[in-house]
Amino acid sequence: METFVYDFSEAADLGRELLGGKGAGLAEMTAIGIPVPAGFTVTTEASVEYMRNSRALPARLEEEIAAHLERLEEATGKRFGDSEDPLLVSVRSGAAVSMPGMMDTILNLGLNDESVEGLARATGNERFAYDAYRRLIQMYGNVVDGADPHAFEQALGELKRERGVNDDVELSADDLRELVESFRRIYRERAGSDFPQDPREQLQRAVRAVFDSWDTPRAQVYRRANGIPDDLGTAVNVVQMVFGNNGDESGTGVAFTRDPSTGEQGLWGEFLTNAQGEDVVAGIRTPLPLAEMKERLPEAFDQLVETMRRLEEHYREMQDIEFTIENGRLYLLQTRSGKRTAPAALRIAVDMVEEGLISKEEAVARIDPRQLNQLLHPMIDPKADYEVAAKGLNASPGAATGKIVLDADAAEDRGKAGEDVILVRWETTPDDIHGFLEARGILTAQGGMTSHAAVVARGMGKPCVAGCEGLTIDVGRQKISLGGRELSAGDVITIDGGTGEVIVGEVNLVPPQINEDFERLLTWADEFRTLKVRANADTPQDAVKAREFGAQGIGLCRTEHMFMAEDRLPIVRAMIMASGADERREALARLLPHQQEDFEGIFEAMAGLPVTIRLLDPPLHEFLPPLDEAESPEMARRIRALRESNPMLGTRGCRLGLLFPEIYEMQVRAIVRAARAVQERTGEAPLVEIMHPLVAFAEELRRLRELTVRTAAEEGDVEYLCGTMIELPRACLRADEIAAHADFFSFGTNDLTQTTLGFSRDDAEGKFLTHYLDDRILTANPFETLDTSGVGDLMQTAVERARGAKPDIKLGICGEHGGDPASVAFCHDLGLAYVSCSPYRVPLARLAAAQAALKQAGVSSVQVGG
Ligand code: PEP
Ligand code: MG
Repeated sequence: METFVYDFSEAADLGRELLGGKGAGLAEMTAIGIPVPAGFTVTTEASVEYMRNSRALPARLEEEIAAHLERLEEATGKRFGDSEDPLLVSVRSGAAVSMPGMMDTILNLGLNDESVEGLARATGNERFAYDAYRRLIQMYGNVVDGADPHAFEQALGELKRERGVNDDVELSADDLRELVESFRRIYRERAGSDFPQDPREQLQRAVRAVFDSWDTPRAQVYRRANGIPDDLGTAVNVVQMVFGNNGDESGTGVAFTRDPSTGEQGLWGEFLTNAQGEDVVAGIRTPLPLAEMKERLPEAFDQLVETMRRLEEHYREMQDIEFTIENGRLYLLQTRSGKRTAPAALRIAVDMVEEGLISKEEAVARIDPRQLNQLLHPMIDPKADYEVAAKGLNASPGAATGKIVLDADAAEDRGKAGEDVILVRWETTPDDIHGFLEARGILTAQGGMTSHAAVVARGMGKPCVAGCEGLTIDVGRQKISLGGRELSAGDVITIDGGTGEVIVGEVNLVPPQINEDFERLLTWADEFRTLKVRANADTPQDAVKAREFGAQGIGLCRTEHMFMAEDRLPIVRAMIMASGADERREALARLLPHQQEDFEGIFEAMAGLPVTIRLLDPPLHEFLPPLDEAESPEMARRIRALRESNPMLGTRGCRLGLLFPEIYEMQVRAIVRAARAVQERTGEAPLVEIMHPLVAFAEELRRLRELTVRTAAEEGDVEYLCGTMIELPRACLRADEIAAHADFFSFGTNDLTQTTLGFSRDDAEGKFLTHYLDDRILTANPFETLDTSGVGDLMQTAVERARGAKPDIKLGICGEHGGDPASVAFCHDLGLAYVSCSPYRVPLARLAAAQAALKQAGVSSVQVGG
């Protein structure tokens, strides 16, 4: 028969899933001889059973609790409800995954009208006993019977006013006796019955209430926000009370074994004398720094230092503890891995390797790649206090503060004049690019993680919040509405592209923190990973940045982005709008030198490393001028003729190259000329890879390869590879046939996600996808994290079929997923040669790739911090 209750002393090996984090910590500490109060844990399984059985306690649970309570009485030599020296317990929630403050706890359980006298006698402190009793009625009333906490606070406030005192501790024993009476009255009004006098009834109802607290709306919201499953349930810990509020030789506090904001070695924490834990947590009294404890309670302080050293040695991880000192004696109530800032996480991992506490592998496995990412960008100061006005998608990390501007020209002018501006748009187009360059950050009302704004901002390393639902823009009046608040152009806002938060006004930011710890950890990561990391970079500047971040080549150079520069856009439009091949050739001839120049810059920046250049793949609608800007009837006719209902599924990619071969010919010429020029200049031949987009049929690639080979041969003799993106389901299924014409494949998972799921890249996130995520139909945005079971399955098929036809074909990925840790792990498992992502995500991908390799080798990646 299943056991639902374990003493701390018999549970050291049962693990946090069953015992919850707190229970497992108490059991483990008991086992290694750290002083903790005695007690027992009701398992998470009991809570799951309770939920499953429509809130009926599992059979035998009450008996088991009664048996363990008896053992606790024996162990402590005290009895529950005793009128001499009663046993009191706390009842504490504790799930397997930490959910700080989300669930309930009740202290001082076991007091009643009789045992409160016993406690007063045993401690010789009547004031203390009645204070404990009133706290119990308050907490129990609130947690078990849903009484309004303010009603109790109000009664306490009134009494203090009547007595003319400021501080709770100034109330006398008689005052508190009176307060207990008021609290009992409040309790009765709410519960419809008297405060229960039977401690066993108190305990049973408290356990039930803690089980119930798993399902409060706030706990549900927290779980949703943190991706914690709903069916884990919570354990309940019944712990002997020790009293920090039993005089000046007593106290309570919280401490970290290292500084959680910098990671520096040395104790860090706060304490209060003559207080109970809730006083510290609730901020009712201002705690003292731990250093003062050394003065006031020197012996307990020494015990604390020694205990914390042992805890770190045991857990080999920075610990966050709660402790109580009762009459000079130290007890630990809780230990867990301490939350820490991103710089502290790195510092601690690196230091612990040096101290010999952990291996380099463990250090690498421990760092959360998303935390690493934060360090590359300015962040909102963790200590800042602010209110979020609206939320959108966290499209490109980093935080920025600036004045609202509503068009790209204004962003450019004011940015160049030295003002900090945020470009705020419904959505962005290539026309806005000059505004991006000068803005501190981008905020859009529409568009998703692969929208123009998101992709371009990520490439530039600029903060971007996209698809912000609470934002509407009135360009005419130069006003916006943000979460219902009206703001004008020129007003200051702050955006956090790492969280999607938008804030009215200025918030303090902290600068990027790439330091020695960062570099060392990544160097270790590089030792362990097998997956290469390339960057998606479209300009020589991006290529330089990518190399600085450790990119091992360029996996995707989107040539259409080169066309977006202000001086080129008119030529591109002329090319698109050309009425025939001759006119188009004329425009292309003007573009060629620009492209060649860019390619030369990129090849030089990436000397010795491969560069994949993708031939033109413009969704035409991004380049077409608006109809009302047509300068002639002929132009208007041409715009109408080119317009498509579904441009994302239209004349894009290789379809364009097959329809207008002169475009790809020009690009191949520019590539080959650039490669030759660089080779002549530097003596080193660039490693060129020419890539064709949006191929669905082998015949498309066969023809385009022929075009590539013929054109390249006309330009002279350079070596290059010719390959294709795999970004349509049909291409995955026919990968064997397509492989016959390709030296390499690169998965374009943005389009592959769009076409496999039938979710529009442009619209889904702004429309139904948010609902899908809120409603848990999906657990992750598939444009951000690979849908491994759907899209991933197609990739797997493609890999198998391609390798079957051509075993040595080079395989990589260049969709946005190449910078997402979970997707990187999937690519590692799939055996791809490389992932390619925007330059600023290269460090994160290096770490994620190392973690995937370590996981395969059996090094677990318990990530802490955050
Ligand atoms: C893709 O589709 O995944 C891709 C990388 O190409 P683009 O985003 O330019 O369509
Ligand atoms: Mg694509």
